[in-house]
Amino acid sequence: MGGKLEETVSILIPIYNEEGNLSLLYDRLDSALKKMGRAYEIIFVDDGSSDGSLDILLDLREKNPNVKIISLSRNFGQTAALSAGIDSSKGDIIIPMDGDLQNDPEDILPLLQKIEEGNDVVSGWRKGRKDPFLTRRLPSIIANRIISWIGGVYLHDYGCTLKAYRRDILKNIKLYGEMHRFIPAYAGAVGAKIIEVPVQHYPRRLGKTKYGLERTIK
Ligand code: UDP
Ligand code: MG
Repeated sequence: MGGKLEETVSILIPIYNEEGNLSLLYDRLDSALKKMGRAYEIIFVDDGSSDGSLDILLDLREKNPNVKIISLSRNFGQTAALSAGIDSSKGDIIIPMDGDLQNDPEDILPLLQKIEEGNDVVSGWRKGRKDPFLTRRLPSIIANRIISWIGGVYLHDYGCTLKAYRRDILKNIKLYGEMHRFIPAYAGAVGAKIIEVPVQHYPRRLGKTKYGLERTIK
């Protein structure tokens, strides 16, 4: 592989009924990715949206040839959507994020830089997480402790979608259920170098969350 600037980046974004968020998300991404200065692709995985999301995505692809769309036939859930995105991605570095602007595209570059410093997984940590305490943050604190303890990889925030992975790390992992959250634990088991980096977190901008307490239990 050549120098660092020749490495390519795949941004993966699962989309389920996010029509109100997509234009602003794209504008923020576009500006962050210009600053990043590496070749990239943005893979939007439309997870069976029933609103106007897919039409908006098709327009974005007209504007920017680096935009790719995978359109799933029905709603399969976020993990399956990410898995489909990983399978069709080409980048040396893979960065999943949410499509509702709870993550900040400006965090992509710092994560990428940590990969380039020699880490295999750089895990976003929503230090100031903007979700309800009782139904979301508390269950997730407990879940993070349990996953850390079982897997031996101690992270504050397994649940943050925004992470960066070296492609090789994902090669042998098959995703199902809610499993995309556990990738760092699997990666740790095969000797990957993993660090956690604080990232921004915002309240969901528009639309509503598709999840509640049952997911944490799952
Ligand atoms: N999402 C998806 N399929 C689903 C549910 C959600 O692709 O069945 C997407 C959603 O559009 C968003 C991301 O996954 O981009 C995270 O979903 P959400 O914001 O509902 O979860 P939360 O932030 O509340 O954990
Ligand atoms: Mg969200």
